[in-house]
Amino acid sequence: MNAPALAASRAPLLDRGADFPILSRQVQGRRLVYLDNGATTQKPAAVIDAERQFYEQSNANIHRGVHWLSQHATDLYEQGREQVRQLLNAARHEEIVFTRGTTEAINLVACSWGQSALKQGDEIVLTGMEHHSNIVPWQLLCERSGAVLRVVPVTDSGELDLDEYRALLGPRTRLVCVAHISNALGTINPIAEIVRLAHEAGAKVLVDGAQAVAHQAVDVQALGCDFYVFSGHKLYGPTGIGALYARYDVLNGMPPWQGGGDMIHTVSFERSTYADVPQRFEAGTPNIAGVIGLDAAIRYVREVGLEAIAAHEQSLLAMATAELQALPGVRLIGTAAHKAGILSFVVDGIHPHDLGTILDMEGVAIRAGHHCAMPLMTRFGIPGTARASLALYNTQEDVDALMAGLRKAQKLFG
Ligand code: PLP
Repeated sequence: MNAPALAASRAPLLDRGADFPILSRQVQGRRLVYLDNGATTQKPAAVIDAERQFYEQSNANIHRGVHWLSQHATDLYEQGREQVRQLLNAARHEEIVFTRGTTEAINLVACSWGQSALKQGDEIVLTGMEHHSNIVPWQLLCERSGAVLRVVPVTDSGELDLDEYRALLGPRTRLVCVAHISNALGTINPIAEIVRLAHEAGAKVLVDGAQAVAHQAVDVQALGCDFYVFSGHKLYGPTGIGALYARYDVLNGMPPWQGGGDMIHTVSFERSTYADVPQRFEAGTPNIAGVIGLDAAIRYVREVGLEAIAAHEQSLLAMATAELQALPGVRLIGTAAHKAGILSFVVDGIHPHDLGTILDMEGVAIRAGHHCAMPLMTRFGIPGTARASLALYNTQEDVDALMAGLRKAQKLFG
């Protein structure tokens, strides 16, 4: 590792105590070292304040009120949509549909687009490193439509085998579903190339951006994908809110998936007609406060700067990788050339859950298990890994605490 990278990562990116109240608390009598950001990120005060302020000053139901407060709440909600559009560089705000998160966004696409577009024998290409959220909705769709799944294999370094991918694409391929960044390995997949090949084969592409949007700038127009999904809670925002981006012509051609208020144009007992996009896909009262919180979270990361966040996390990753690889008995799972700040590893003689418990006693929060990627664990012949995942507020001190905890665990199991 070069000296400038080392120097850069030693400096915290932020005044973490001030921005993230939870990071100044103790757990198990120790300073909280939060390295479970792949599961969910902590929330800056700006997000917590925005939600509270919404309920204190602006709360009303949206879109159907004639009174001032309803119009005001509607404006705030639609500003949130514009904020997501800017985050993803979507061409139009109508291309953004609010959902509960990544999982619901994928289910929306499977139920609406998938149900209407797929027939018996059509093919959906997935990859061997998908989260269960990007597997099970497609299996359910296959059961309903008669479509079949094809799976792109993962190499020993945790990358997609692109030759196999090319070979899997064919005249029956309708959709390719791929994680932008693997939650279990950290691999950053070559999305633009994957999209180009899929489009040549006449297939659409859904990108699971759950692990990407908080860690690097995303431009859906440059990627060329048809669908892009993410969760607000992995982006320093609230739980229960996320978004689906779908290219306008694709979204506009999709039938509703949930019925109710707000998604209709007219209703009679004979026949109902449906609202334009994106309202067609937002039935019922949405998570308005969640959108307000997500808006604040996106403003926050854009203010810090996604390039600065990526650089900070990359330099911590390089350092932590070198230190982990220097520890005897530790094996990194996922050594792709392009990786985000996720360290998945196994330690000889220590079950990942035991490791997680020992680290917890030291105040270090990591995740242990299959990370909702059971097929990937099977591919590597392991039941699970210990996973430390980085965020913008992590520091060299946090990495040091992880290493000290690991050494302690090795001594205990010695
Ligand atoms: N996809 C990936 C890559 C993830 O990491 C996760 C969450 O861990 C999900 C999908 C599911 O996200 P959510 O539970 O917020 O819907």
